Amino acid sequence: MKNKEIKGLIFDLDGVIVSTEHNHFLAWKKTADQLGVKFSEHENEKLKGLSRVDSLKAILAIDNLIISEKEFGTLMLDKNEFYLESIQLLNESNILPGVKNLLVSAKEQGIKMAVGSSSKNAPFIVKLLGLDDYFELIVDGNMVADPKPHPEVFLNAAKGMNLKPSDCIVFEDAESGIKAALDGGFHAIAVGNKNIAEMAHEYLNDLTEFKLDLYA
Ligand SMILES: [Mg+2]
Repeated sequence: MKNKEIKGLIFDLDGVIVSTEHNHFLAWKKTADQLGVKFSEHENEKLKGLSRVDSLKAILAIDNLIISEKEFGTLMLDKNEFYLESIQLLNESNILPGVKNLLVSAKEQGIKMAVGSSSKNAPFIVKLLGLDDYFELIVDGNMVADPKPHPEVFLNAAKGMNLKPSDCIVFEDAESGIKAALDGGFHAIAVGNKNIAEMAHEYLNDLTEFKLDLYA
């Protein structure tokens, strides 16, 4: 018996299709080096879930550094430059487990697919990973007025595929994304983040655990 007849799959990008966590670490490491602050993977753990502003504040706090507003702004821009530089090296080997197989099977079965990401770099990253042929569209942070947890990014993705939200599954690794999916009327599957397992319809450690046959 099938769980539900599904016509579309919508993927969050970072944490579901690829992880750029290490790239953020490398970028913050360079920033910390500029400041002469010792910054390891251990300190980086504490930045998880923080915005760019709060991450920089946390790095400054390691050595109780005080800098001017102007310098703060420059460091923020530099960090993003370092990040963009480091993601140039992303390729197919960085795709998370189970993703490629699922995309191939879903495409074979005529299931439409889209990416719904807050990242303005989403189209660029999808291209680097060599996955652009699988998606009908990529809705990125540039294309929405209201970011997640507002459902706009996923609603636009469904609309772009000519599907109703109730016909689509959303895969997400963040609380704001699951909230957006639920508010939009989608079937919400949490991936790789146990903290949000309870709030989603289902939980998977990674996409190797997803059984497409149950839905299509
Ligand atoms: Mg994510």
